[in-house]
Amino acid sequence: TPEIGVLALQGDVREHLDALRAAGASPRPVRRPEELAAVAGLVIPGGESTTISKLATAFGLLEPLRARVADGLPVYGSCAGMIMLADKILDPRSGQETVGGIDMIVRRNAFGRQNESFEAPVEVAGVPGGPVRGVFIRAPWVESVGAAADSLAEFRGHSVAVRQGNLLATAFHPELTGDHRVHGLFVAMVRAAGH
Ligand code: GLN
Repeated sequence: TPEIGVLALQGDVREHLDALRAAGASPRPVRRPEELAAVAGLVIPGGESTTISKLATAFGLLEPLRARVADGLPVYGSCAGMIMLADKILDPRSGQETVGGIDMIVRRNAFGRQNESFEAPVEVAGVPGGPVRGVFIRAPWVESVGAAADSLAEFRGHSVAVRQGNLLATAFHPELTGDHRVHGLFVAMVRAAGH
């Protein structure tokens, strides 16, 4: 049973812990560098990416996160977590850092004010069994997917799920749906990486 951390600085940590457990992993919250060093995979939850970024810096986790990503640690980011995995954000707040690792440019709060939160079915490559329920909450979209990354899902003309090697990101929140197939894909990635 792979031990998978959930970065527990801010955001919907409990929902990811529950989804990972349901997908066959042994999940635990990660707040300290020692805890990060002990996991075989990591989820960066949905929440507020500027807050997660600032707390990761304050807790001394940003550089250890970058180092583990560079070393091939499997990481899955949903929504704010997707933003944290982007090599570039179009509209960063001042001082907003990302962990990076996925060759993509992300636009925060991309779906606009009238439509900040909505649900729509999304077909995700690598997730069998039909579309997932895409829960979008002030979600980003991927403005451009770089050559090193693959888009796994498109919605309204933009990529909303991306994979690059051991890194996976979705603009939506499968952890809020009770459908554990996206977490299942990530647990399989962690097993295959064997960290
Ligand atoms: N809008 C948030 C951000 O920019 C992300 C929202 C979410 O994670 N649901 O970080």
